[in-house]
Amino acid sequence: MLAIRAPRLFDGRDLHRDRVVLVENGRVTAVISGDPPEAAAVVDLGADATLLPGLIDCHVHLAFDASPDVLGGLERPGLAERMRQAAGRQLAAGVTTVRDLGDLGYLALELGLGLDGPEVLAAGPPITTPRGHCWFLGGEAAGEREVRAAVRERAARGAHVVKMMVTGGEMTPGSRSHLLQYGPAELRAAAGEAHAHGLPITGHAHCAAGIAAALDAGFDSIEHCSFFTEDFYELDHALIRRLAASGVVASLTAGVAPGAPPPPPRIQARLSAALEGLSACYAAGVRFVIGTDAGVGPPKPHGVLPYGAEMLTGIGYAPVDVLRAITSVAAETCHVDGRKGMIAPGHDADLLAVAGDPLADITALCRPIAVYRMGRPVIGEGS
Ligand SMILES: [Zn+2]
Repeated sequence: MLAIRAPRLFDGRDLHRDRVVLVENGRVTAVISGDPPEAAAVVDLGADATLLPGLIDCHVHLAFDASPDVLGGLERPGLAERMRQAAGRQLAAGVTTVRDLGDLGYLALELGLGLDGPEVLAAGPPITTPRGHCWFLGGEAAGEREVRAAVRERAARGAHVVKMMVTGGEMTPGSRSHLLQYGPAELRAAAGEAHAHGLPITGHAHCAAGIAAALDAGFDSIEHCSFFTEDFYELDHALIRRLAASGVVASLTAGVAPGAPPPPPRIQARLSAALEGLSACYAAGVRFVIGTDAGVGPPKPHGVLPYGAEMLTGIGYAPVDVLRAITSVAAETCHVDGRKGMIAPGHDADLLAVAGDPLADITALCRPIAVYRMGRPVIGEGS
């Protein structure tokens, strides 16, 4: 038995003082105050540590290498090995679960990382229209029949989530972020088929019409939730209120590595408008997680999630809400609650210890002192 003693413990919802987490066979068996049992091997994290559930990034691409030529990186041999390295960087940053929302050839489902990486929940290639956004990942499907077949294929392959490109996107030549890719019947078919297989479905949406279409179709979460127009960027406050009232989760694309090169000019020009959108979502009470889009380019290396948390608190999000978003709310969104996202009996002992108090200073998340994956130290004492 392992006993991890921490002066501060954020359990996924709230902060507690002076707790000991007992771990056996990879799982948390109890959270106690007072002295650990005599038989336990005790790890004392020190006077300034905070223990949290391992973090969950709800939107990454292990197949993207965060280089200036992400698409070129897909072509070369050794892709699975590079994906394993990307996964290792996530784990070292304290991200113990990643949701991969777009790989090539279902590779993210076959990495066989075990405890050497985070738990990978994967969508396989995102479903997109012929030559639509990210078509090069291999997920093209048009019309209700093909879309249903695509969802069934993913379920049969063991995907954990269905990802659908509701609108165009920025990284695909010829694709337009402000335009819908699918009609309502195709979107409803995808959502119905996903739910029939017990899978959540998330929609990539970069414009108001896309967000509305995903809500209409019954999607469970919406990636990006941005508001591109043909010429610029325009918030739709009524739609943000509708999103909040729906309880559908917004997977917010926050997080940029320090010292990173600026984003592409089209994004850079819309950055302050996009931040306004994030603030408006929080003010309206939209349920949210963070999906960094890690890997998609140089500003977003794997393991960037702590900087996403920092970005949101920087524009007024309360640290406690951000911490819940990247632990317990993320686990619910990914359908792994009961197992991930909380430090509680029966949950996997995926744990992150940081120096400092992230509720007072969220940048503490960028200072991991220990990471455990199913009770096994990855970094820190005993690793
Ligand atoms: Zn993405």
